[in-house]
Amino acid sequence: MKNCSKCGAKMIEKPAETPEGFEYTYYKCSKCGEEIIDMKQLRNIAEKYRIMKKYRAKLSKWGLSLGIRIPKELVNKYGLNEEDEVSIIPEKNGFLIINEKQY
Ligand SMILES: [Zn+2]
Repeated sequence: MKNCSKCGAKMIEKPAETPEGFEYTYYKCSKCGEEIIDMKQLRNIAEKYRIMKKYRAKLSKWGLSLGIRIPKELVNKYGLNEEDEVSIIPEKNGFLIINEKQY
């Protein structure tokens, strides 16, 4: 249970929703109305935004392998160029592509 940093009264966890429709919770003071969000709540909502910011790409056959077309926005953002070498790091549900130039 949290207490308000302004008046010391009990803070109640309340549900809310972002304009994008993500549900989250925050704490509101039962006395003075002070509102706060703690790190756990913040991480929770940051993760929802992270997942929302995803890109779709179609795979195409390239010899025996599959090629992936990287969207222009990501090419620019990460400074990728033709013939660049990247690392592919397998993870549980997919993989990461790392631009080695940034190390
Ligand atoms: Zn208060």
